[in-house]
Amino acid sequence: MSHNPRRQFLTQSAALAATPLLASFAGKAFADDPARKLGVALVGLGSLATNQIAPALQKTRNCRLAAIVTGTPSKAETWKKQYGIPDKNIYDYKTMNRMADNKDIDIVYVVTPNALHLEYALAAAAAGKHVFCEKPMEISVERCQQMIDGVKKAGRMLGVGYRCQFDPNHLECVRLAKEKVLGELKVIDANFGFAMGDPTQWRLKRDLAGGGCLMDVGIYCLQTARMLTGEEPVWFSATETKTDPVKFKEVEETILWQAKFPSGVVVSSVSTYNANGLAGFRAATQRGWFGLEPAYFYGGNRGKRSDGPDINFPVADQFATELEDFADCILNKRQSKVSGEMGLADVKYLMTIYDSVKKGRPVTL
Ligand code: NDP
Repeated sequence: MSHNPRRQFLTQSAALAATPLLASFAGKAFADDPARKLGVALVGLGSLATNQIAPALQKTRNCRLAAIVTGTPSKAETWKKQYGIPDKNIYDYKTMNRMADNKDIDIVYVVTPNALHLEYALAAAAAGKHVFCEKPMEISVERCQQMIDGVKKAGRMLGVGYRCQFDPNHLECVRLAKEKVLGELKVIDANFGFAMGDPTQWRLKRDLAGGGCLMDVGIYCLQTARMLTGEEPVWFSATETKTDPVKFKEVEETILWQAKFPSGVVVSSVSTYNANGLAGFRAATQRGWFGLEPAYFYGGNRGKRSDGPDINFPVADQFATELEDFADCILNKRQSKVSGEMGLADVKYLMTIYDSVKKGRPVTL
């Protein structure tokens, strides 16, 4: 076995490279040299970028924090010192198109409010960069499609920040469902919420967030249902409640939704901005159950199954893992499992849930 961890990693990655990727990547990407770490530019230096993504990038094997895009000059100064980012790799939202001539940057990771993802993703693609975009991908199906089209036209790769897809505890639950270890999957109960603090933040503004708790945290439960069933939902029924119409003037406070899947699996889910203590799922099967509680945290997710052993795999940094995978996809011309199409489908289902709330009746797809 090779003692060079870098080479060992590349060998393992190559063996995993199952799906051929767009031939147009060949010879075009700055990532021609597979021994080079791919440079990541973070767009929007808010809470997630500061507390999770930037630290995670320090742990990755095949990418590195190379550049920043920010509208706040004081943040640029802090980040420059903290991460040793050269002046030429610091942009604002108007100058980021100049990235086209910056070979330090391979991937642009968009971490802004939801309704700004499209604009910056398109700017990045037009500059010839691969795009990784936070969830929810955008605030409408049309805008998700525009992002997919723009990145495709540029011959670049698009991925969406579904970190749970890289959590071994989630993957173990997918295995239990897929292999019918406890019999066939029948019912899923998945819930996620938190008590929203600052009433002035963008998450409560429709034009920036696109919606409330459903867009922000309900999407995790939808992902769980799609991951566990391996199917696409065919029916939704939903209703909302609002106890603070001032704070939640523009977006929903709590949504309860149900879904049916083709195999007959039914799903029930609550997402809320008005309560803590909801962050897990339970799947009922013919012969028992399994689930995670918590399921949706950055770390420490763990669970149980009815036949005994705990589900408690060590969780590596989810953001480091998802970024390593995206970089690996680029280096090995492999399709990302957290594709733009997956992001678009989720937004389509979220819109169907809103449609059901609006119509006051179930909606069939
Ligand atoms: P924050 O409000 O903490 O940060 C957003 C940043 O975007 C701001 O700090 C600002 O950075 C930039 N920005 C640009 N334009 C605007 C604007 N008009 N209003 C407000 N901010 C603006 O948000 P989060 O970091 O919590 O969320 C960012 C994205 O990440 C969202 O899409 C969210 O859904 C997603 N997210 C994903 C999580 C996950 O687990 N995968 C967890 C949390 C969030 P600057 O000052 O540098 O310009």
